[in-house]
Amino acid sequence: MDRQKELQFAISAVAQAARLAIDVQNELAPQDALAKQDRSPVTVADYGVQALISRSLQHAFPNDPLMGEESSDELHSDAAKPIIQKVIERVTAVEPKIAADDVIGLIDRASHGGGSKSRFWTLDPIDGTKGFLRREQYAIALALIEDGEVVAGVLGCPNLSMSGDASPAGCILAAAQGAGAQIMSLDGSTPHAIQTRKIEQTTEAIVCESVETGHSDHSSSAQVSTQLGIATNPVRIDSQCKYAVVARGDADVYLRLPTRPGYQERIWDHAAGAIIVTESGGTVTDVNGKALDFSRGSTLSENKGVIATSGAIHDRVVEVVKNVLGSN
Ligand code: AMP
Ligand code: MG
Repeated sequence: MDRQKELQFAISAVAQAARLAIDVQNELAPQDALAKQDRSPVTVADYGVQALISRSLQHAFPNDPLMGEESSDELHSDAAKPIIQKVIERVTAVEPKIAADDVIGLIDRASHGGGSKSRFWTLDPIDGTKGFLRREQYAIALALIEDGEVVAGVLGCPNLSMSGDASPAGCILAAAQGAGAQIMSLDGSTPHAIQTRKIEQTTEAIVCESVETGHSDHSSSAQVSTQLGIATNPVRIDSQCKYAVVARGDADVYLRLPTRPGYQERIWDHAAGAIIVTESGGTVTDVNGKALDFSRGSTLSENKGVIATSGAIHDRVVEVVKNVLGSN
C-alpha cells in the first residue's frame, strides 16, 4: 500500500514542531524542565511538540489515534503552572490557530494504548530529552503502525547536520514500507534517497550507542567491539539520531544492550528509527536476533535491547552480542 500521503503529513508535522523545539532549546532556562514520576526529565518542548503534532494529526487524519510519550499528569501541580504557560506561549507562537484552552486536551489526546489491531501513530515528541537539555542531539520521532507493524516513520533531528554539510540546519529522515528512505534538510532541501554503508567485515564497522550509561551497557558493548575486531571507539549520541546515522551510512552498528533485567523498551523510542534503517537496507532486531514486535502495546515486551546494523554484518554482530551477554 502506498503511504505517501501519510509520509508527507508526518514530514510537515515534524518540521513544524521542530521549530518549537529549536526555539525552546535556544532559550533554554532551568525552569523549562520538570522531573516525571520515574525521575526522567520532561520540558516545555516535549509538551509543546506533542500538542502541535497531536493537532496536526487531528486535522489530517481525524480518525487516527495517537500514542504519545507524554501526558499532562505532571502539569496539574502549582509548581507546573509556569511550564503550562510557556507551553501555551510556544505552541500558539508556532500555530496561532490553536486556542490556549485546547493545549492540555491536545497533549492528552495522544493516549492510545497500541496493540496488534488497527492503525495508530506513535510519537516521542523529544526523544533524548537528556541530550536536549545538554544542547546536544535529540529527535522528534513519529511513526505509523498498522496491525502491529511499522509502516512509515519520520525522524526530525534539528542538531544533526546533513552528512558532509557545514550548514547549521538539521535534517529530517523519512521512510515508508517498501518505498525506501530519504533525507532532507530541515530548511527545505530536496529529499534524496539514503542507503546504509555496504561493509562485509565487522573490523571496519563504526559503532554507536547512547551517551547515557543508564540506557545502554557500555562495558558489554566495549567487549562486543573487541570481539568484532573493531579498534575505534564508539560514537555516543543521544536519541534515535543513532538510527539516523546508521541509515545514512555514517555508522554501521547501533548497540542498545540492556542495563538491567526487566526494562522494556518503549515503542516510541524505536518505531520511526527502525523503519528508516530497514528501508535504507539495514537490519534491526533485539539482542537475540528476534524481530522487534510493535504489537504489544506501549513497550517491546517480547524483546530485549536492540541491535541495528547496516545489513550484511548483522548475524555476526548478533552472534557476538549473544556470546558477550551470555558470559557476563
Ligand atoms: P538514548 O537517547 O538513546 O539514551 O535513549 C533515550 C530513551 O531511553 C528515553 O526516551 C527513555 O525512554 C529510554 N530509557 C529510559 N530508561 C532506560 C533504560 N533503563 N534502558 C533503556 N532505555 C531507557
Ligand atoms: Mg525517548
